[in-house]
Amino acid sequence: MLKKKISKILIGTNNKGKLKEIKGLLPKSIKIFSTSDFKLKSPAENGKTFKENSIIKSKYFSKKSNLVCIADDSGLEIDCLNKKPGIFSARWAGSKGDFSKAIKRVYRELSKKDKDWKAKRIKARFVCALSICYLDKTIASVVGKIDGYISNKIRGKNGFGYDPIFIPKKKKQTFGEMKLSSKYKIDHRSIAFKKIKKFL
Ligand code: IMP
Repeated sequence: MLKKKISKILIGTNNKGKLKEIKGLLPKSIKIFSTSDFKLKSPAENGKTFKENSIIKSKYFSKKSNLVCIADDSGLEIDCLNKKPGIFSARWAGSKGDFSKAIKRVYRELSKKDKDWKAKRIKARFVCALSICYLDKTIASVVGKIDGYISNKIRGKNGFGYDPIFIPKKKKQTFGEMKLSSKYKIDHRSIAFKKIKKFL
């Protein structure tokens, strides 16, 4: 699918962490709008996969704003929890977006599964689906992933969400301990972005 060059785009997210990161990844030549410019609330995410949810968001925000829209859906998959929280990653933090609560739930579920989990390597990955909805309603979608492990301690104050408990493969620090610029170079969103660049 070869697309015309885009001159303006809406970033379809109400999450400040994601907005900041996606802004930094978009070419400087594209004029960027955010959901707050249009006072838009997020749609219900009733898809079954990250990809389906990113499509729901990009279509919804594009329709509401009459702009091309890029939206993501992302989350943390933990292998021994049958890939939970997965698409429910944001919902585990409750309506107030309290990630200390979500992280406590991760630790609680891991302890339920295996009381010795802290001594083991708990495989996990962050996944990011990115979709662009164009004005003719066609869609481009890609998925990016980064593998790693769950830290047995909450470490670091940078980033957002589950960053303080995710250690990317071959690294020692959690995403929460890394400088934002170092995280952005390797994370799931930047991997997805490299794949979707050709559609911009
Ligand atoms: P949604 O895509 O808005 O449904 O939310 C995805 C949720 O996954 C976020 O609220 C975070 O909890 C989590 N998440 C996604 N990407 C990251 C990340 O880069 N760091 C930490 N948590 C993330």
